[in-house]
Amino acid sequence: MARHIEPVCRLCRREGEKLFLKGARCLSPKCAIEKRGYFPGQHGPNAKMRRAKASDYQMQLREKQKLRRIYGLLESQFRRYFRQALKARGVTGAQLLVLLERRLDNVVYRAGLAASRSAARQLVTHAHFYVNGHPVDIPSYLVRPGDTITVRETSRGQAYWKQWLEERNDVPTPRWLSADRANLSATVQALPTREDIEVPIKEQLVVEFYSR
Ligand code: SF4
Repeated sequence: MARHIEPVCRLCRREGEKLFLKGARCLSPKCAIEKRGYFPGQHGPNAKMRRAKASDYQMQLREKQKLRRIYGLLESQFRRYFRQALKARGVTGAQLLVLLERRLDNVVYRAGLAASRSAARQLVTHAHFYVNGHPVDIPSYLVRPGDTITVRETSRGQAYWKQWLEERNDVPTPRWLSADRANLSATVQALPTREDIEVPIKEQLVVEFYSR
């Protein structure tokens, strides 16, 4: 499976804001944005000045890249979601976000069963999760209302969850999900709406980018 191999903190620095790609570290003073809040590369501080004069195209491109990076997708995967959103009823930008949010790796992360989307993706691909009692190891699996996601019985004793839940048992659950972290499970109550999706994105710019 193709994936990003670039250091993820560099992606945040490139976008000039926190994308929360590394779990608990993102909330700590060790966050690279806190320590080096300028663009990566030797001309980092000057790049900030270039951003002030960004064209429409640059703004659309950056917004698209930001959204793609938040969900950890490659360009070809991201484009597929956009094509799917175009065919769906409703506002394309909102539909795109809803599709991304319904991915199984995102749901595991949102339910507080993993520290980050990338950690959730790895846990899913390593077959630690069941959906409605059936093993699912596809991070892009799209959940539906009523789906129940549980950690596989034989994986429950793993130190990962014990440590993560001890550290961050207070992660808020979005209203379209219900989570029972003590039992390492979550249920999809409804499809998310745009208001439920707290990603700092102007999705209209992403739509404009692909509509050029
Ligand atoms: Fe981004 Fe998190 Fe790295 Fe900070 S620690 S730069 S928020 S991935």
